[in-house]
Amino acid sequence: MKVLLAGGAGYIGTHTAVEMAAAGNEVVIADNFSNSKPEAVRRVEALVGEKIPCYYLDVADKKLLTEIFEKEKIDVVVHFAGLKAVAESTKIPVEYYRNNIDTTLSLLEVMQEQGCRRLIFSSSATVYGEPKKLPLVEDMPPGVCASPYGWTKWMNEQILRDACCANPELSVVLLRYFNPIGAHESGTIGEDPQGIPNNLFPYIAQVAVGKRPCLSIFGNDYPTKDGTCVRDYIHVVDLAKGHVKASAYAMEHEGLATFNLGTGVGYSVLEMVKAFERVNELKLSYQFAPRRPGDVSECYADAKKAKEILGWEAEKTLEDMCRDTYRWQSKNPQGYPEG
Ligand code: NAD
Ligand code: UDP
Repeated sequence: MKVLLAGGAGYIGTHTAVEMAAAGNEVVIADNFSNSKPEAVRRVEALVGEKIPCYYLDVADKKLLTEIFEKEKIDVVVHFAGLKAVAESTKIPVEYYRNNIDTTLSLLEVMQEQGCRRLIFSSSATVYGEPKKLPLVEDMPPGVCASPYGWTKWMNEQILRDACCANPELSVVLLRYFNPIGAHESGTIGEDPQGIPNNLFPYIAQVAVGKRPCLSIFGNDYPTKDGTCVRDYIHVVDLAKGHVKASAYAMEHEGLATFNLGTGVGYSVLEMVKAFERVNELKLSYQFAPRRPGDVSECYADAKKAKEILGWEAEKTLEDMCRDTYRWQSKNPQGYPEG
């Protein structure tokens, strides 16, 4: 099948491009490089040993998007194209709503016009809001989101649900990611945040290579095993493979399906710090800091549905996540080069 990765030059998109190609699929990327660099796509090409058609455009631009569909005959769209910084979304909410929702609407309209019926959407565990019960199961009702970013995921899910109700031929898979970390084992592609990292693992990686002096652990008085927050961290290569399975599923089914992509296991921030130190044989400088607004104390997936229906489950270990993150960061302390 031919797969369009919208936002495919980013962290999850590049890893998905590698796994899609490895599974024998044709890959096309569309990205405006607002949070990624062309070098990332060149590295994917080096890993898969073939040229990947890569289009530089805003995915909300229907005219340019139509040109891609006319040229490439796309079977499945995977929609990664979105802004994703939670704190930034509280400062510029309108840009977040504009970008994250317009991209979906344009994709849906152009897909309809061009007869493409299958879409995989990058959603997030954030749509569950404050967990009332753990683990989080797909049929729990969506909750109250803690940020405009979260609401864009929530609203996109609703838009896609409504589109599927109105058009029974559509096939949409909502993938609710838990906490993707790690990097391809080659160390040539990985997460490349611009500026100060918002997320735990990129921050840890930058402290490990001496780029930042000290990690702040946000809160040590949560009602968890050691007082720090618990999350379900998933290796990005496992996550990428989940998209291959979801795309194959979308080829065979109509309607809307929702899957958690997590491991089902929660680790605390302190456990992650200790694991990173142990696996990479180093010491991380860290200090406790006040809680970060909007953080829930614990969040982890019930991962059974993806296993039963997609035949997918996470295979990589916490050690893999720690080792691969450090390898990527050590080889690329400044991230991808410009240009
Ligand atoms: P990323 O920022 O690395 O990748 C997103 C890509 O989309 C970037 O290359 C960016 O340049 C591109 N993009 C953004 N707006 C665009 C537009 N209008 N037109 C074209 N390209 C555009 O992020 P990621 O970590 O790879 O995440 C991919 C998707 O998964 C996002 O939708 C994100 O919200 C979602 N998600 C990510 C996480 C996570 O922790 N990384 C968790 C849950 C959900
Ligand atoms: N965290 C932290 N220090 C940091 C970044 C994150 O202590 O510099 C904590 C954060 O409070 C949360 C966990 O690490 O408990 C995971 O945060 P992240 O932003 O990576 O993912 P989230 O679950 O918020 O999407």
